[in-house]
Amino acid sequence: MSENEPRDFIRQIIADDIASDKHGGAVVTRFPPEPNGYLHIGHAKSICLNFGVAEENGGRTYLRFDDTNPGKESREYVDAIKADVRWLGFDWGDRLTHASDYFDQLYDSAIQLIEMGKAYVDSLSAEEIREHRGTLTDAGQDSPYRNRTVEENLDLFRRMRAGEFGDGEHVLRAKIDMASPNMNMRDPTLYRIRHIPHQNAGDKWNIYPMYDFAHGLSDAFEGITHSLCTLEFEDHRPLYDWFLDQLEPPHRPRQIEFSRLNLAYALTSKRKLNLLVEEGVVNGWDDPRLATLAGMRRRGYPPAALRDFISRIGVTKKDNLIEMGVLENSVRENLDHNAERRMGVLNPLKIVLTNYPDDETEQMTALNHPNRPDLGTRELPFGRELYIERDDFMEEAPRKFFRLKPDAEVRLRFAYIIRCDEVVKDEAGKVVELRCSYDADTRSGSGSSDRKVKGTIHWVSAAHALEAEVRLYDRLFTVPDPGAADDVHENLNPNSLEIANARLEPSLASESDAVQFERLGYFAPDAIDHTALKPVFNRIVTLRDSWAKLEKQAMQNK
Ligand code: ATP
Ligand code: MG
Repeated sequence: MSENEPRDFIRQIIADDIASDKHGGAVVTRFPPEPNGYLHIGHAKSICLNFGVAEENGGRTYLRFDDTNPGKESREYVDAIKADVRWLGFDWGDRLTHASDYFDQLYDSAIQLIEMGKAYVDSLSAEEIREHRGTLTDAGQDSPYRNRTVEENLDLFRRMRAGEFGDGEHVLRAKIDMASPNMNMRDPTLYRIRHIPHQNAGDKWNIYPMYDFAHGLSDAFEGITHSLCTLEFEDHRPLYDWFLDQLEPPHRPRQIEFSRLNLAYALTSKRKLNLLVEEGVVNGWDDPRLATLAGMRRRGYPPAALRDFISRIGVTKKDNLIEMGVLENSVRENLDHNAERRMGVLNPLKIVLTNYPDDETEQMTALNHPNRPDLGTRELPFGRELYIERDDFMEEAPRKFFRLKPDAEVRLRFAYIIRCDEVVKDEAGKVVELRCSYDADTRSGSGSSDRKVKGTIHWVSAAHALEAEVRLYDRLFTVPDPGAADDVHENLNPNSLEIANARLEPSLASESDAVQFERLGYFAPDAIDHTALKPVFNRIVTLRDSWAKLEKQAMQNK
């Protein structure tokens, strides 16, 4: 592919439309969430695509709430969705709309269809309508109400709007073809009676339009040129076009479908996510174990890493299940470049430097990033008592263990070489402290000795360390496709959250960005629970891909 060639088939279509001056060269797209839950990683694909193609072509994008289902929708979701789209890095300017903004126009369009003899009020019950619909192999049957006169239909529809009938008494249907091989064309419902208020439209309406009717016409009203949606709407396209053919709006949008993003080990269904939240399986929509945008934000994923991930997976019509490792690699790559390094000990073991003066503290100079001098340095306090990672000491160590072991040396990063002289244990035989000595000539950067040892480990000064809660997340599910199970409680990983009582270098009290704890992974202060007095950090991602092995196993077990 040459540099100037469009990256995917949608961008190709748009390039061709611009070249042929269709729509006068305009590119207008929309991201149309239903406010019935929070956004997830799948929506990020749609957001990046819709805002991306417009941005690339000097076009514009609407954020339109597809709010035709008042029973399930709420203001909380509307606000959360706005915050998430903004966080992901996109700006809809003054193009924030709702399907409900068009309820009057939609109503007028319905009246127009009735007047054209293309829509009728049906008084069958929902059950009867289902029975009349037929199956994939059998044609449906016409409703006995299908041939009502235009006048009767207008009268009934107006009275439906005025609230004269109860829920379910009548519906308005398009008059298309009850024998169509496409079930969506078998006289689909356009309006139903619902006596409930609407989060945006208030209590003005007793009838609400169906998604298919509202969606395509909203696209037309807004002058959308390319209406990009996921593949499950492919069978709805003939209906989308039918409305446009009948009503002939001034702008004619084109629907183009692409495949959904499915992420292994994650749920990408608002309905199922909602169950996890409602039943308290997770701590809210922003639980850092969820692949919701709110969860990933709280976990510390940089939005640029998500955009990078979306651009890497591309846009096609092929079904796919993307491995978590691909997403995490984008996160890791971003953080490797941007995150400053800090010292933290997750599982502390105390060491005492017996030959270090009791009352002394030194300031060690530490690089904030190993290969970005622009990020500068900071001071790390060093003293007689330190914490190191319990795993960095082994009493009976194999020959190739180059960290700390009895009678051996290791370098403390940015500080001195130390030797382990004595192992202190409690009654149960557990190691509780190491007594070590340091070599004063080996101070990092300025020591008189340039002696080298094989291992370097991280540490924090016990007198200065912050005690912190560090939340270590693992996958929420034990299977790659948790959405396939009937019950979301199936396949939950009981160890998806582990809490470490860590010791951190003091500068982390005021940290607000994602950082790398050297040798451990990337961590970010929790946006809600972290305070200087009680620091709380979330592990964003480990330093290496811990998923690759898992996914290999899953493949072998198939
Ligand atoms: P969910 O099943 O999670 O409720 P949805 O399709 O019902 O998803 P909407 O709010 O209707 O959610 O989605 C808004 C837009 O995002 C739609 O255009 C939809 O096609 C797109 N979208 C939803 N899920 C995905 C996904 N997994 N991958 C790509 N696009 C998606
Ligand atoms: Mg939907």
